[in-house]
Amino acid sequence: MKTIAVANQKGGCGKTTTAVNLAAALAVGGARVLLVDLDPQGHATLGIGHDPDKLDRTIGDAMVDRHVSINDVTLETQIVGLSLAPSNIMLGTVELDLRDRTGKELVLGEKLRMVSSQYDYCVIDCAPPLSLLMLNALVASSSVVITVQTHYYAIEGLKRLLETIHIVRKRFHPCQVKALGLLLTFVEDRTLLCRQVQQQLREFFGNLVFDTVIHRNVRLAEAPSAGESIFTYAPTNKAAEEYMNCSKEVVKRLSQLEVQDGQE
Ligand code: ADP
Ligand code: MG
Repeated sequence: MKTIAVANQKGGCGKTTTAVNLAAALAVGGARVLLVDLDPQGHATLGIGHDPDKLDRTIGDAMVDRHVSINDVTLETQIVGLSLAPSNIMLGTVELDLRDRTGKELVLGEKLRMVSSQYDYCVIDCAPPLSLLMLNALVASSSVVITVQTHYYAIEGLKRLLETIHIVRKRFHPCQVKALGLLLTFVEDRTLLCRQVQQQLREFFGNLVFDTVIHRNVRLAEAPSAGESIFTYAPTNKAAEEYMNCSKEVVKRLSQLEVQDGQE
């Protein structure tokens, strides 16, 4: 199983939208996928069709309780091959519950390892930056997709996030996490600012920026209210094509990372 965290340094950058639709795209392509909602807001849970207020258990129970496995909390979704480890506001207590535990940054990775033969990919919708939940996500992952809202001049914040990933890899052995790439979201071809920011990001970060971009698209904003990914909500829409291309580029970049790791 390859574990991919979807992260950024700010809210509202299309992180949850990307986690849900990337996970769905991989499953539509035939892979077995586990979507982990690691944000206490439970938006990914809601966005794939489960009510966060009606959960018996969350991913937090698997993280805190040694006797609860990921399989005990996992729910099926409308999409064949896509399972969900859900979240709600209760996930917020994980930070307190794990406070005195040694290796508290490692618990998610340990639990995911136990189900790694059941899935091809695990996609994690990350928690707020610099929280214990976010650290757990980074430590558990082999790669990070960083979503970037193209309206903001974001280079400083992105450099910090890339540094954080680097520090986590060094500090938490045997963590292998690497940035897989920057995915530009909310792209609007007609706005000058958007074009400028895109150009600056490509000049500064080079190949790290995904070729695929996700345009601003009202269907992507509507789909979560129906509890659906774009692949069932509007399967012929351009946004579905873009997230399918994104998933193909993720797979390609993962195999390139493997080659690099082999050469190191
Ligand atoms: P984050 O998880 O980073 O906070 P979200 O994925 O929840 O960001 O996106 C923030 C809001 O923008 C949500 O209401 C979402 O539906 C909407 N949204 C996300 N991506 C797009 C897009 N490409 N076009 C239009 N709306 C989008
Ligand atoms: Mg979110």
